[in-house]
Amino acid sequence: MRITVIGGGVGCARFVAGVREWARRSEEEHRIDVVVNTADDWWVSGLRIAPDHDSLLYALAGVNDTTRGWGRAGETERVAAELAAWGTAPDWFTLGDLDLGTHIARTAWLREGASVSEVYRRLGSRWDLGVALHPATDDEIDTHVRLADGSDIHFQEWWVRHRAGGDATGFSQRGIDSAAPSEGALGCIVLADVVLIAPSNPIVSVDPVLAVPGMREALGDAAAPIVGVSGIIGGSVVRGMADTCLAIEGIETSARAVAEHYGARSRGALLDGWLVDDRDADAVEPLSTSGITTRAVPLWMRDADTSAQLAADAITLAGALQA
Ligand code: GDP
Ligand code: CA
Repeated sequence: MRITVIGGGVGCARFVAGVREWARRSEEEHRIDVVVNTADDWWVSGLRIAPDHDSLLYALAGVNDTTRGWGRAGETERVAAELAAWGTAPDWFTLGDLDLGTHIARTAWLREGASVSEVYRRLGSRWDLGVALHPATDDEIDTHVRLADGSDIHFQEWWVRHRAGGDATGFSQRGIDSAAPSEGALGCIVLADVVLIAPSNPIVSVDPVLAVPGMREALGDAAAPIVGVSGIIGGSVVRGMADTCLAIEGIETSARAVAEHYGARSRGALLDGWLVDDRDADAVEPLSTSGITTRAVPLWMRDADTSAQLAADAITLAGALQA
């Protein structure tokens, strides 16, 4: 089976690790592709940083820091101290030494003319990831945050420096109008047997992927059923600050509201199916009635078993929708 996952970042990485675990335990051959959000990417100290991609890369390679929850294991920060002494890196953004190695390699390849897709291939070839990562687009579409005073800052400055605080009024992707989906992203959507929307931050990890011109059409035309997984359990985010982003867009922090935000594919939007947590079982009926077939299952990904079971539940729902 060909499984395509859309998302980006730590929640996506956990989910994809679950899909990979499910595939390893299965007797059949499966192929897993991930369409990765690139709108978190930015330039700092002359380097291109790709947080969502690198979270996936490190976690799937097993070289991530599981205690801290992001970055490389066994990381040191000697170079960052030098950059701070030179006054060339913001003191609020951690750049570990091993991580900087990735950023330097990526930037070097980009400067030599490699596409973002090609950079993904080269970075991914170092380890046996068991999945192929594709950028949603090869074009730069960095998310910016509009503030109440009318100014505009890069998403990373708002998210990391201001801890998603201050008077934000909305999000937009710079350059989105002239962006196009990458070939790899389009290919794995067209060929998929199942498309899964990871329990990633809906506003800043999933929506920017969908905002790439042509992406929604590709998903609308896909032969595969599209099943999403809620990152909201019992009215709160499992990890992170997605609730702040939802509030800014005027969306309630609930599994039901996120599904309604994505919308039903049968009504010209995204989802055929949706998984909510057992605790949110009251969303099953209203969502199913409005065209999004919803099931309640355990959504917490605690370890390999619970993540693989969640993947199995999503794939089973997709199978039922296809039948
Ligand atoms: P980021 O870009 O690193 O913030 O990561 P993502 O956008 O991929 O994921 C953030 C989302 O993952 C948050 O909204 C979390 O609620 C969700 N998430 C994290 N862990 C879990 C989990 O165990 N289960 C579910 N259902 N969602 C999770
Ligand atoms: Ca993200």
